[in-house]
Amino acid sequence: MDFSYESLLKSAMEKVPKREGSGKRFKVPQVVVEAQGAKTVIKNMAEVASGLRREPEQVGRFIAKEMAAPGSIQNGTFVLQAKASKEMLQRKLEDYIKNFVYCRVCGEPDTKLEKDDRIVFIRCEACGARSAAKPV
Ligand SMILES: [Zn+2]
Repeated sequence: MDFSYESLLKSAMEKVPKREGSGKRFKVPQVVVEAQGAKTVIKNMAEVASGLRREPEQVGRFIAKEMAAPGSIQNGTFVLQAKASKEMLQRKLEDYIKNFVYCRVCGEPDTKLEKDDRIVFIRCEACGARSAAKPV
């Protein structure tokens, strides 16, 4: 056990209940990546996307576009037709989260995407704000 001030502070902070009482604190999902020859597979894409409450196809499309390589969802995994490191894919996922998950106004991740004509909006369930996301 570590009783340093910082770890005590940290554990005290972890006990603070969250506003909605869900107790679930948002954690950026970590991609599990496997290189397969010239391809790279994100093995836990279904899980990553459901943690963000997004469709795997949409997250995959963003990553493929950012990586400038074709990609597809196959049985809950994401197959990118290019070589990429875990760090690189993780960074793209974090870019996705910044663009499409966090509310622009309050910064909470409890958001939904709404499509209006060709514009995608992020609707925040915490503060009700609606802001335009970068188009995919
Ligand atoms: Zn908000």
